[in-house]
Amino acid sequence: MQDIKSGLLEEKKECRLLFGALSLLLTAIVIAACVGLFLRSQIILKEEMLATARSHFNNIVLMRRWNAGYGGVYVRKRPGVESNPYLKNPDIHTVDGVTLTLKNPALMTREVSELTSKESICSFHITSLKPINPANAPDEFERKALQDFERGADEVYSRSKEGGEIYFNYIAPLFVEQSCLECHGDQGYKVGDIRGGIRVKFNIRNLLDLHDTTVREFLLLAACFTVVAIFTLYLFMHRFEGRLNRAREKIRDMALKDPLTGIFNRRYLMSRLGEELERAGRNGKNVCCVMLDIDYFKKINDQYGHLFGDAVLKELSARIQKIVRQYDTFARYGGEEFVLILADTERAECIRIAQRVMKTIKEKPFVYKTTSCMVTVSLGLACSLAVETDSETLLKHADDALYQAKRGGRDRIIIYPSENAE
Ligand code: GH3
Ligand code: MG
Ligand code: MG
Repeated sequence: MQDIKSGLLEEKKECRLLFGALSLLLTAIVIAACVGLFLRSQIILKEEMLATARSHFNNIVLMRRWNAGYGGVYVRKRPGVESNPYLKNPDIHTVDGVTLTLKNPALMTREVSELTSKESICSFHITSLKPINPANAPDEFERKALQDFERGADEVYSRSKEGGEIYFNYIAPLFVEQSCLECHGDQGYKVGDIRGGIRVKFNIRNLLDLHDTTVREFLLLAACFTVVAIFTLYLFMHRFEGRLNRAREKIRDMALKDPLTGIFNRRYLMSRLGEELERAGRNGKNVCCVMLDIDYFKKINDQYGHLFGDAVLKELSARIQKIVRQYDTFARYGGEEFVLILADTERAECIRIAQRVMKTIKEKPFVYKTTSCMVTVSLGLACSLAVETDSETLLKHADDALYQAKRGGRDRIIIYPSENAE
C-alpha cells in the first residue's frame, strides 16, 4: 500500500521534472533560433547597406570616367555658374559671345553630391591625402581609410551618428586612369596608383528602424509561441498524468480488489493486517479479526445455480461494506469466506460489530431475478491483545473460532479461544 503511494508520488515528480525539462528545452531552442535569426538579420542588413553604398560609388566613378573621357565637359556659364578656380583656363568664349566653363570630374562629383544631398539620397566626398582643392581634404574617417588603402584595403565602412540621425559611411579607393593624368599628371601619379577615394554617406535611420521593428515583432511572436507551446505541453502533460493515474488506479484495483464483489482481495488484506498489527503493537492497541463463512453455500449453488451464488456473494459484500466503519478493512479471503479487520477495537466492540454483520445478512432474503433465499453465516473472532500475535496466527485463531462455529451448528459467532459470543 505504502509502496503504491510512494510510487504514485515518484511518478508525479517524474512527470513534473519531464515537463520542466521539456519547457526548458523548448525555451532554449526558441532563444537559440532568435539569436541565430538576429545575427543573420544583422549580416543581411550590413550586406544591404554595403550593396547600396557600392552601387552609389560605382555610379559616381562611371560618371567621372565619362567626364574624364572627354577631358572635362563645358557647360554654359549662366549667372550663378562658378568657374573652377583650380583649373588654369576654365572659361572659353564662343564666336557668338557665349561663355562656357569647364566642369572637370572633381567639380562634377561635388555638384552631383550637392544635388543628391538635397534630395536626401546620399552625399559623396572626393578626397585625397594630397588634394588640389583644400575642400577635398580628408576628415578623420577618410584619412584612416586612405591610409588603409595604401596598406591594401579594398573598402572601409562604418556607422556614424550626427544630429540624432544615423549614417552609413563607405569609402573605396580611386585609381589613377589615363584620363586623370590630364589634371593630375604634375602630381607625380602613374596609371594604377591610388589617387584618393570617394566617400559615400547616406542616412540609414529608416532602414534601422524597420529592422528594429521587425526584430521586436519577431521576438514578441517567438515569446507568444513559447508561452502557447509550454501551455499546450502543460495541458498535454496534465491529461497524460490524469490518464496515467487512472490506469494506475485500474491496475491497483486489479491487483488489490476482487473482481466479482469489488471489495479488497486476500493480498491487500494480508498487507493491511500486517500494517495494522505493527501500528497496534507500537501503540499498545487491539486489532480484531472477524472471519466469516457462508453456511451451506455449496447447497445454495446447487439449488439455485452459480449465477445466483455469485449474486449472493456480491450482495453480501455490499451489505457488510455498508455497515463497517471507514477505517475497517473488509476483504474476500477466498471462495465464500470473508475477513473483517477492526483496528483499534476492543473485544466487546468487535462482538457488537460481528452481531451487526450477522443481523444484516439474516434480516432479509437475498434476491436475484425471480429467485430469493435466506442466507446465514458463521463468524470466528480473534483479538490481537488477547494472544499478542502476528497476522498468520491471528487469522489462524479466527479460523479456529470459525471452525468451532461450524461445528457448533453454524449461524453463530465464536470468539477465540472458543467462547460463544451471541
Ligand atoms: P459450510 O457451511 O461448511 O461452509 O459449507 P459450504 O457448502 O458453504 O462449504 P464448502 O466449502 O463445502 O463449499 C463452498 C462452495 O463455495 C464451493 C464452491 O463451489 C463455492 N464457491 C466458491 N467460490 C465461488 C464463487 O465465486 N461463486 C460461486 N457461485 N460459488 C463459489
Ligand atoms: Mg468455506
Ligand atoms: Mg461455507
